[in-house]
Amino acid sequence: MQAGGEDVFPSWQCVRQRVAALWESLRVRAPSAVPDTPFRKLVEGASQGVLVAQGVEVRPLYANRAMATLLRLAHPAELTSRASLLTFLMAPEAEEVREVCSSLLNGRLERARRHLEVVRPDQSTVWLDMTVTVCQWDGQDALAFSFRDITEFVERERDLEFSRGSLESQAAEMIALAEATHLEHARAEAAREDAERQRRFLQTLVATIPSPLYYKDRDGRILGCNAAFARLYGRSDESEVVGLTVHDLAVPDYAKRTDVLDAALFDRGGAERYDRTFPGPDGTARTLIFNKAVFTDANGVPAGVVGVITDISEQKRLENELRRLATTDSLTGALNRRAFLDEAHRLIGHAQRYHEPLSVILSDIDHFKRINDTHGHAVGDLALRLFVVTLRNRLRESDVLGRIGGEEFAIVLPHAALPEAMKVAEDLRMALANQDIETPHGPLVFTASLGVAELGTHGTIIDAVMQAADAALYTAKALGRNRVVAASESRPASTG
Ligand code: GH3
Ligand code: MG
Ligand code: MG
Repeated sequence: MQAGGEDVFPSWQCVRQRVAALWESLRVRAPSAVPDTPFRKLVEGASQGVLVAQGVEVRPLYANRAMATLLRLAHPAELTSRASLLTFLMAPEAEEVREVCSSLLNGRLERARRHLEVVRPDQSTVWLDMTVTVCQWDGQDALAFSFRDITEFVERERDLEFSRGSLESQAAEMIALAEATHLEHARAEAAREDAERQRRFLQTLVATIPSPLYYKDRDGRILGCNAAFARLYGRSDESEVVGLTVHDLAVPDYAKRTDVLDAALFDRGGAERYDRTFPGPDGTARTLIFNKAVFTDANGVPAGVVGVITDISEQKRLENELRRLATTDSLTGALNRRAFLDEAHRLIGHAQRYHEPLSVILSDIDHFKRINDTHGHAVGDLALRLFVVTLRNRLRESDVLGRIGGEEFAIVLPHAALPEAMKVAEDLRMALANQDIETPHGPLVFTASLGVAELGTHGTIIDAVMQAADAALYTAKALGRNRVVAASESRPASTG
């Protein structure tokens, strides 16, 4: 507090010196009252409590107004009328003050300072910062106390202490939580890394497998696949396929059939294997073997289908090619003798079972040796090929043509009785006779002779029918060639 630039009540040290001087003067003047001097005004009006007391029991001799206020007493006299200040203290503190006072009065201490909790007459408490030193009062040793209210400070300290305590426990909890979280996080991270490693391994495995491979959810949406699968549907890689269904990838009929097969697999569970012919993106038919299995989620509920496809299109093509090579004549493309007889046998069995007519035509090129001799073997080959083409163009899809000897061909006509077969044979004869082959020696015309026999009429097994037709052919040759002869008559049906 400043007044006119002078430190009015700057510190207890200063006050003590002044009060000491004051009390020194009191010895000469009024003995038990502070004289009415500027110093008295100073002490009376001080904001700190000032108390002068006697002995270790602290019998109050003088108190200022601030002292009375600190103890919530109406007047300082209420304090000086008491026998001891110690009645305001609790037992342990009262004892402590006694000891301090004793030390001061014995000269062991010059000055002491304590924080005391004081219980006021109204039972409220106040924390006081007490400073005490020895002084002279009425020529005797006395104790000069100064008190300052530090309740607010102590309470704030306590609050702070409490806050610090709770902050510390909160911090400890948070640290424990953070540690637990970190541990959990580390575990989750390890699990995630593990899963990622497995995923990469599977991805590499799937990518490496040359067979198309995919897995899809219950709705048929592709969840993952390899490049081989993407290529099967004309896409370049997985990213172009994931999220699509078979309806986005294949023709409608194929996609619908896939839905039916998958629904059945879901109902049944487990795995299955089947072949399907699939129109590939380039339009060519592809034959695929599907190996499919239902996979389940963590709860064992069917979650989707995983499939491995084996593309056997090339294998099928080779098989067909081998079969064709084994059954056809390489020069003309007609069935070879064995395949023709097998097929004829099968058709005869069918005709007999259903009581349907069936006829056989046997045909032999006339003077073929001459063609070879005159034009060479190559032209002879050409004549053989042309012969087959001409016949094919005139026959029905269901008719079967076979090369059964050098330039001898046989035809099975299912559903055809003898008269119809004769018409066909005559048509063939005329067609052959009306064409020619370009040769270095000019156009070459050649003819053929044909013998016709009917199932039932001329035999009930292929050999018998063929024999009958052969006999008719022989007759045709004998009769001058370029003609058709029916077996039953063994005489010419027409002449060329
Ligand atoms: P015919 O009118 O009596 O039938 O007289 P032909 O000359 O046709 O007599 P034949 O049936 O005995 O002769 C068949 C000839 O066909 C014998 C053979 O050299 C020839 N030949 C057989 N296979 C082939 C072949 O693959 N290519 C060629 N260029 N000639 C063949
Ligand atoms: Mg011949
Ligand atoms: Mg012959």
